[in-house]
Amino acid sequence: MKKHNFNAGPSILPEEVIKQTADAVLDIDGIGLSILEISHRSKEFLPIIEEASALFKELLNVPEGYSVLFLGGGASLQFCMVPYNFLNKKAAYLNTGSWAKKAMKEAKLFGDVIEVASSESDNYTYIPKNFKVPSDVDYLHITTNNTIYGTELLEDLDVNVPLIADMSSDIFSRPIDVSKYNCIYGGAQKNLGPSGVTFVIVKNEALGKVNREIPTMLNYQTHVKKNSMFNTPPVLPVYSSLMTLRWLKAQGGVEEMQKRAKQRAELLYTEIDRNKLFTGTTHTEDRSRMNICFVMAPEYKELEKDFLEFATQKGLVGIKGHRSVGGFRASCYNAMPLEGVQCLVNCMKEFEQSH
Ligand SMILES: *Cc1c(COP(=O)(O)O)cnc(C)c1O
Repeated sequence: MKKHNFNAGPSILPEEVIKQTADAVLDIDGIGLSILEISHRSKEFLPIIEEASALFKELLNVPEGYSVLFLGGGASLQFCMVPYNFLNKKAAYLNTGSWAKKAMKEAKLFGDVIEVASSESDNYTYIPKNFKVPSDVDYLHITTNNTIYGTELLEDLDVNVPLIADMSSDIFSRPIDVSKYNCIYGGAQKNLGPSGVTFVIVKNEALGKVNREIPTMLNYQTHVKKNSMFNTPPVLPVYSSLMTLRWLKAQGGVEEMQKRAKQRAELLYTEIDRNKLFTGTTHTEDRSRMNICFVMAPEYKELEKDFLEFATQKGLVGIKGHRSVGGFRASCYNAMPLEGVQCLVNCMKEFEQSH
């Protein structure tokens, strides 16, 4: 049976990316060796990381003066690298979910942290608006898509200070105005590639401004200078990410990804709102297009396990909600075809009819 993969991360990748990765593991470029057993400085690998960085910049329209890096450590290491490199005295954080809170916790090791607003007391069901950002902070840190709670900032904020964003779970799902940011980072495993590589977009002239020594590996300047090749980069995840970027370009780029994301989200949210058995979990204006969360309506609460089982039988994978929200979460990343979401919607309709 065809499986529809709604996993939150690591998550769905285009079929051809998986196949190309498998091929490269067996034999890269027909040289009789696996990508796993060649030097990262070989003539086979160097063009791969160079093209990945160039294509990344092209597809997101990254302006001059910014570098794109491929590092290890996940988005979680960026929670620490960001303040290490950018927080001199004071930074502002918007608390929109547990990832945001984890980022804030690390920043407190480096200076004053101002929580400009928080939706924690409402279990992060919305994204705070109209908050004030002190003009003397080094940056405002935001999480553009809250993977666990299903809320998303769908536009680049207008603020009076440089932005830094965790875009782990919505990178490449819409065009972004990179010039508003000093840094954008994320783990690849939601929308770009397999786990093991972390992307960082960094504004070169914003670096080197803090009054502290930074360990070599945690200093962005190290990786900017060496084009992500200071040490051995995560070779295979970078290769797969390049395959995804090529796929993305062939599909029509981020504008096309945005169009598809809107279609998928509209289809599923319309059914959540229509179907008497289910209800959404977030304020409608902040609904994420990437992670669509919903629960059983209160009077049908006891059907939760049955629906999960029913959906599993129909080939739907990974729709169990995160424990902090419960219910269901359908992660609809770039590689999710509309048919996958249609299948989930059909499943919800069929389940409703039998109850
Ligand atoms: C998954 C996720 C993370 C954690 O990423 P790791 O690469 O596992 O460290 C951080 N922030 C957001 C928004 C995420 O979705």
